[in-house]
Amino acid sequence: MALNQNLFNADEGVTYDAIVIGAGVIGPCVATGLARKGKKVLIVERDWALPDRIVGELMQPGGVRALRSLGMVQSINNIEAVPVTGYTVMFNGEKVDIPYPYKSDVEPVHKVKDLVRDGNDQVLDDGHITKKDFETDERERGVAFVHGKFLDNLRAIVRNEPNVTCVQGNCVEVLKDAQNNNEVIGAKIDIEGRGKVDFKAHITFVCDGIFSHFRKELNPEHVPTVGSSFVGMSLYHAKMPTPNHGHVILGNKHMPVIVYQISPEETRILCAFNSAKVPKDLKGWMQKDVQPYIPEALRPSFDDALQAGKFRAMPNSYLPARQNDVIGMCVIGDALNMRHPLTGGGMTVGLHDVVLLMDKIGDLDFSDRATILDELLDLHFERKSHGTVVNVLSIALYSLFAADTPNLKALQRGCFKYFQRGGDCVNVPVQFLSGVLPNPLYLTRVFFAVALYTCYLNIEERGFFGFPLGVLEGFMIFFTAVRVFTPFMLGEYFG
Ligand SMILES: Cc1cc2nc3c(=O)[nH]c(=O)nc-3n(C[C@H](O)[C@H](O)[C@H](O)COP(=O)(O)OP(=O)(O)OC[C@H]3O[C@@H](n4cnc5c(N)ncnc54)[C@H](O)[C@@H]3O)c2cc1C
Repeated sequence: MALNQNLFNADEGVTYDAIVIGAGVIGPCVATGLARKGKKVLIVERDWALPDRIVGELMQPGGVRALRSLGMVQSINNIEAVPVTGYTVMFNGEKVDIPYPYKSDVEPVHKVKDLVRDGNDQVLDDGHITKKDFETDERERGVAFVHGKFLDNLRAIVRNEPNVTCVQGNCVEVLKDAQNNNEVIGAKIDIEGRGKVDFKAHITFVCDGIFSHFRKELNPEHVPTVGSSFVGMSLYHAKMPTPNHGHVILGNKHMPVIVYQISPEETRILCAFNSAKVPKDLKGWMQKDVQPYIPEALRPSFDDALQAGKFRAMPNSYLPARQNDVIGMCVIGDALNMRHPLTGGGMTVGLHDVVLLMDKIGDLDFSDRATILDELLDLHFERKSHGTVVNVLSIALYSLFAADTPNLKALQRGCFKYFQRGGDCVNVPVQFLSGVLPNPLYLTRVFFAVALYTCYLNIEERGFFGFPLGVLEGFMIFFTAVRVFTPFMLGEYFG
């Protein structure tokens, strides 16, 4: 997006209805939604130039549906995006294809009042995304893209809203009320050529992402934990084992690897490393612990990328949401809540939160800050069923897929065998993955069905004479399943 002088001219003399800090994935959606609801919005981003990041590149169908609800789905157009029709899971060389859910099994898309108009809830034909496939196919679709190009589209949409003022600057402080230090009244922004300027608003939305500086304004203990990392590379002209699918490559000798095509030329590969700190010799680690397990079809492009040696590492953070209980402030997106990126659910959760937010407060008068606070307190509970499913699934699957104990390895294999059964054994899990089945109890049932199936497989393998040992191991496997799943489910649902 071309930068122009307008980005430095925002008026500090007015009180905005809302200030939005951050124009990543979530900020532009919050600002656009509020503007279409008639609010006067200021959005601040420290750099409006095309971002270059390896995050947020595959959007699950739940995310696409949320963009439709917000009337912003055309942000996936004209960026050479790759339609995604499902997942392929590979385990020690065997594979299972898992198509995305049927539309008939999922609730119709909710259209947020005032936001959806003139067909902006439908994709356009652009030679890569086709209207026919997205609008009339019987199954839901996801999409993969170059993250920066997608963000550029979101930013173009928000800049086109007449009620929005965009500013380029670094937000350095959320401003507190002089009398009541617990209330937020705006943001201090460091703007090139103007210095630090105070902007006032009835409510300030904190959308400053994974490394959020301001999430701690909710509570100093609102900090993420990092247990693992992804090391990413770009593969060029890769031959995908299953075109238009996300790929999860698993095995009992290596960590999970995920692969998806993000443009006609480029494919993203993310290789998990089970620590927050990645090895110094990334090439050596890749050669020893990743390369041997890459499927044949991907090897030429993988080997070229390894040779080129352009590695990019990102921490995989986990952060359960907290209630927004500060007057005049709402933390949302990764600043509020993060999960493991293995299942590509971050944008889906964040965008769904924006949909709920618009329904909840979009029509209210923002100067009535007490009422807004009440609604935000409620929102914490209303977002739970959706967020919990995506978040817990990501953590539970990562524990299984990065198995480093015999019981976890048994569960990993059991999970794959469960998928191989087909029918509801893939149809239901893929609804959770897609972010279209917000039912935590059902997720619990399915997870423990996988655990019991693993116990059964184990007993069957032990045979008649090994039966007592099989039963004993079964108890240990089941106990492991309880241990990796229950604390997160309880924490997310009741926290
Ligand atoms: C390795 C990895 C892979 C991922 N892959 C996927 C995936 O495939 N699918 C998926 O759905 N999710 C994925 N995610 C998660 C996804 O990237 C996030 O959920 C999403 O980007 C969150 O959007 P956000 O707007 O909250 O934050 P961000 O997109 O991070 O945006 C934050 C914005 O705030 C700006 N900003 C920050 N501080 C300031 C400041 N002080 N002043 C002004 N501006 C500021 C930043 O410049 C940035 O533009 C992945 C995450 C990781 C770590």
